[in-house]
Amino acid sequence: MNESVTVSAPLMPMVVGHLARLQTGLDFINTLDLWPVSHDHLDSPTSAFDWLVDHDLMHREARIHLLAQYEASPAVGVEMLSRLRRVRQAMRGVLEAAATRRAPDPSDLADINRALRTHYIYELVPATDGVSLDHRHQGDPVDGAIARLAEALARELIQGDTTRLRICENPQCHWVFKDTSRTGKRKWCSMSSCGNRAKVARHRARQKTQSPSPL
Ligand SMILES: [Zn+2]
Repeated sequence: MNESVTVSAPLMPMVVGHLARLQTGLDFINTLDLWPVSHDHLDSPTSAFDWLVDHDLMHREARIHLLAQYEASPAVGVEMLSRLRRVRQAMRGVLEAAATRRAPDPSDLADINRALRTHYIYELVPATDGVSLDHRHQGDPVDGAIARLAEALARELIQGDTTRLRICENPQCHWVFKDTSRTGKRKWCSMSSCGNRAKVARHRARQKTQSPSPL
């Protein structure tokens, strides 16, 4: 998989101050909740920006500024939401392809590559043991956030262990996660929700087969 995925992200420094973590990219994909209640956390510009601010992908000032802008022209806000959702869908598509050892859909890759095509300014910043390379985004703050989310996943596809990328086995849930367990056999996004649900279902099935059916 690592060889066949050629997400073009040549300007990815290894030590950077504000790159998004993989977990943030996965959380972003999981903002489309299906279970136990179906809810899209990106259902309005306000909630989408709340999510981005909470995940350190956007400054509060940018949020205030953009929301005021959308108030004046709501169509721009709608367009921004569809851009976010399109990248989210593409990230899920590419991750699912990696998790199931399939070649990614070219249109998903095209969406991610478009997201990665953004203007960065590279700069050296002081670090405890010398300097580290940081980068700042110039231009639309949403594009900057999208680029960092796509970058988090792209980095993992190239440098990480893609065999550990998983889709929750609860078919109604579909959350994506990285299996960091020692055994590498984790099946559910969370043992307490989906894992427990599977356990209860198994238990019920066993009881049914064991107890004689009432006649
Ligand atoms: Zn789950």
